[in-house]
Amino acid sequence: IVEIAALYKSFGETQVLRGGDLNVNQGEVIAIIGKSGSGKSTLLRCINGLERFDSGAILVNNKQIDHDSAAAMRELRQQVGMIFQSFNLFPHLTVGRNIMLAPKLVKKRTTEQGEEQARTLLSRVGLEEKYDAMPDRLSGGQQQRVAIARALAMEPAVLLCDEITSALDPELVGEVLRVVESLAKDGMTLMMVTHEIGFARKVADRMIFMHQGKVHEMGPPDELFANPRTPELRQFLSSLH
Ligand code: ATP
Ligand code: MG
Repeated sequence: IVEIAALYKSFGETQVLRGGDLNVNQGEVIAIIGKSGSGKSTLLRCINGLERFDSGAILVNNKQIDHDSAAAMRELRQQVGMIFQSFNLFPHLTVGRNIMLAPKLVKKRTTEQGEEQARTLLSRVGLEEKYDAMPDRLSGGQQQRVAIARALAMEPAVLLCDEITSALDPELVGEVLRVVESLAKDGMTLMMVTHEIGFARKVADRMIFMHQGKVHEMGPPDELFANPRTPELRQFLSSLH
């Protein structure tokens, strides 16, 4: 569902992505690990069109990302949802309206359809009673769960998660990870950058170790942990403990 070929991206003199290839299948859960600066966030940002790349190709649902086509980019934004470390809810809108806004504008949903969907999604993330609440009344974990519901409202084909629990107090991490795990079980295609290695190991079908802007190693999590083939991954894994 996501195909990446020979992706290169520089910021000025700094080469950040250097020719990685990757195919992600429908329903697959991919965990991305790697040192700070290895290009994990930049890779996700390229996949959802936030960042232009210099060369190579990315296909989402068999359509090539083309920054020169406004229509293609609009479609891409519907296909690819992304959640960040910071929750970025609209502070002046209720939880329900946060979720309804984009589908109403982009998918032309009626208010009734939007409300029904928002309530369904809120119950999916365990927050049905917060429909009318303002974001600043919610804990960080609750806000992040609303952000997940908001991303799901666009019915994306792929959901990208960039360290979505890193800004949370430790006691709030679990509630967000449980939602992610339930999405994974329901067959959502997920690509997640995470420092929650235990969680990644449990939930991911494949783990990707990024090093210097490339997919350096890739495989089933248990295999990568048991048999790291490169000294770079070995060193990274030992740095985790
Ligand atoms: P972290 O684990 O710290 O989040 P990362 O693997 O997500 O790291 P990226 O954020 O993708 O790494 O950054 C890769 C490299 O690109 C870093 O050297 C970073 O400084 C550089 N970089 C990222 N964004 C920009 C930008 N907008 N302008 C210039 N350099 C950037
Ligand atoms: Mg990052």
